[in-house]
Amino acid sequence: MLTSRANVRSPRTLEEALAARANHPDGVILAGGTDLMVQIEAGQLNPSHVIDLSGVGVLRGIQPRDGYTWIGALTTYTQLIHAPHLATEAPSLVEAARTCGALQIQNRGTLGGNIGNASPAGDTLPVLLSLDAVVELASARRGLRLVPAERFFVGYRALAMKPDEIITGVRIPQRHPGDLTGFRKVGTRAAQAISKVVMAARLRFTADGIQQARIAFGSVAPTPVRCPHVERALEGGPLRPGAWAHLSEDIAPIDDVRSSARYRMQVATNVLRAWLESLG
Ligand SMILES: Cc1cc2nc3c(=O)[nH]c(=O)nc-3n(C[C@H](O)[C@H](O)[C@H](O)COP(=O)(O)OP(=O)(O)OC[C@H]3O[C@@H](n4cnc5c(N)ncnc54)[C@H](O)[C@@H]3O)c2cc1C
Repeated sequence: MLTSRANVRSPRTLEEALAARANHPDGVILAGGTDLMVQIEAGQLNPSHVIDLSGVGVLRGIQPRDGYTWIGALTTYTQLIHAPHLATEAPSLVEAARTCGALQIQNRGTLGGNIGNASPAGDTLPVLLSLDAVVELASARRGLRLVPAERFFVGYRALAMKPDEIITGVRIPQRHPGDLTGFRKVGTRAAQAISKVVMAARLRFTADGIQQARIAFGSVAPTPVRCPHVERALEGGPLRPGAWAHLSEDIAPIDDVRSSARYRMQVATNVLRAWLESLG
């Protein structure tokens, strides 16, 4: 529950939201509240100002645009799951949305919130890396700013976002006809479980073989990460499923409350290997 001292702003337009953010850079942004309210309830946060974005309708929606798909920060998992355009354009993002929480979480939790929470276990984050997504930010003073997802997660729960900025959306580059994507999540249970390992992948096949490879993992490092050694081993020529052997050059998971480093490394290897071999 928010303390009686918390000052809640409820902007209706993006301009109002950005003005509130500029006036209260130390305040917190509230989207669906599925992470934030848990943190407040647990006493980890006691914000003096809360900027509730839920009334800012322009931040919600999925729009095909020239060369990319725009997904508003307030778009919920349920909206991602039921968007026909995404089923063909970004199937791995739809798959990730399906695995996030149960229906209640899917109805409230937003893509912007998953990014803003910056958890290394956020399920959509490796997907965004694998799709070369770009995060769209806005501030009252500087207007719109674009940051590739790959450069947005800069440390444990740290983002390349300035205190007066709001995430307005995500841009997913148009799908190439030769793109093949995959998503795998391993948790304690099939549903309602935080990932122990999550993998998202995209291979771009052309007449000459694999032209571009994107392999990304979550829950194996302080941030979601790409796997450049595996990617380089896959690029150029026909599919080489044995590229999984390079994974140990890219990730070095640690022990934590949810899992051991050894388990995570083994599972990440199994997941990547099984996915690559399934394509052969
Ligand atoms: C029971 C349960 C199950 C869950 N299961 C999963 C799961 O399977 N996978 C998973 O990845 N997550 C899971 N979560 C976590 C959570 O639901 C997601 O991270 C969700 O996407 C958060 O979105 P939200 O809109 O509720 O964010 P909020 O809680 O409103 O905000 C989260 C953080 O992001 C910031 N923020 C939100 N929107 C913006 C914005 N537009 N600009 C800048 N900052 C912003 C907030 O200030 C806050 O720090 C679960 C949570 C619960 C309680």
